[in-house]
Amino acid sequence: MQDFVFHNSTKLIFGKDKEQLVGQESVSYSKKLLLHYGGGSIKNSGLYDKVVSSLREQNIEIFELGGVKPNPRVSLVREGVAICKENDIDFILAVGGGSVIDSAKAIAAGAHYDGDVWDFFEGKSTIEACLPIGVVLTIPAAGSESSSGTVITNEDGWYKRSTGHITMRPQFAILNPELTYTLPSYQTACGITDMMAHILERYFTNEKNVEVTDRLCEATLKTIINNAHIVIEEPTNYAARAEIMWSGTIAHNDSLGVGRIGDWASHDIEHELSGIYDIAHGAGLAIIFPAWMKYVYKHDINRFVQFANRVWDIEIDLNNLEKTALAGIKKTEQFFSSIGMPITLKEVNIDSDHFEEMAKKGTENRPLGNFVKLNEEDVLNIYHLAK
Ligand code: NAP
Ligand code: FE
Repeated sequence: MQDFVFHNSTKLIFGKDKEQLVGQESVSYSKKLLLHYGGGSIKNSGLYDKVVSSLREQNIEIFELGGVKPNPRVSLVREGVAICKENDIDFILAVGGGSVIDSAKAIAAGAHYDGDVWDFFEGKSTIEACLPIGVVLTIPAAGSESSSGTVITNEDGWYKRSTGHITMRPQFAILNPELTYTLPSYQTACGITDMMAHILERYFTNEKNVEVTDRLCEATLKTIINNAHIVIEEPTNYAARAEIMWSGTIAHNDSLGVGRIGDWASHDIEHELSGIYDIAHGAGLAIIFPAWMKYVYKHDINRFVQFANRVWDIEIDLNNLEKTALAGIKKTEQFFSSIGMPITLKEVNIDSDHFEEMAKKGTENRPLGNFVKLNEEDVLNIYHLAK
């Protein structure tokens, strides 16, 4: 196990009706805030009214910016930065999913910076400080509610890029599983896939002697797998929604990734897809992760055998470890498919037209991944495997 510092300072407030506390939590940061949200789900569900009334009870002045799209765009981030600067806003409240939270984080970084916020995503400038942000989470998926990163798409060239900073971690996040009852099953499944991918990115490491984090990863994956079909079939099952919601946060708050270097190639390969084709991140991962597994499993068959055995309960064939490893990959693919995710690019109508462009763009600054380092040709091969 490598040395590490674990410092996740986000206050997590979990449970029924906890969104009622949002005014109380926010007022300790400011009497004025930017309320940031997406395309309307919070208005349809009634959450918007509850949040606004809780903020008003604390006499908080509210500026609003809605309209965040999935795969959030830098143009809206720039609008948010301008609103914060013009009105001396020093707190941002994100009500929504990963896209809204990531957009709020980028605004929080841009509001403290004189240049263009995209500089941070291109590595032209380094974030020094962000405005504090708070979150009311409506979809368990990205884990952005307690992560220190953000992923934003630039419509100029369709680059989807990430950046991060320790001050970007939300100050608080309110997690009420009941708020996820209204999720369409496709979005629920996308979220499940993304949280599983966050664990798998950490699980496939070259680090030896990481038993506790291996077993925490396996337990969290099993919990997600055990509850996935329940939440899809019974969207208002509180117990199952709660398991999935907490798993999504744990999957990406870094407690499962300490002491080891994770991979992250599948995320980077997926970002090129959702950057150009605007598909849901989770759906892209359901397609890319199994293809990545098929491409790299020989690098460490034993790790893939452990995964197959401990996560999918596949008996180890000591005479044919490769068979066991491949059975684990197959199970992963079948599981994604069983929850309604696409597992091939064909299913989302993506042909090979942009494979070369995506492989080039994705690897232009560095090889991808850590478990196995992937160059442009490797990434191209993975897109072909995902056809
Ligand atoms: P999302 O893009 O925030 O939301 C997906 C869709 O679900 C939206 O159309 C949204 O509608 C809808 N929705 C959300 N909550 C709902 C609810 N309770 N009821 C009904 N509909 C609801 O989904 P996400 O998967 O959380 O975020 C994806 C983004 O996060 C991607 O851009 C991905 O790259 C990024 N990401 C970030 C991190 C990180 O650490 N920063 C990690 C992984 C992924 P409305 O817009 O109408 O609300
Ligand atoms: Fe993700």
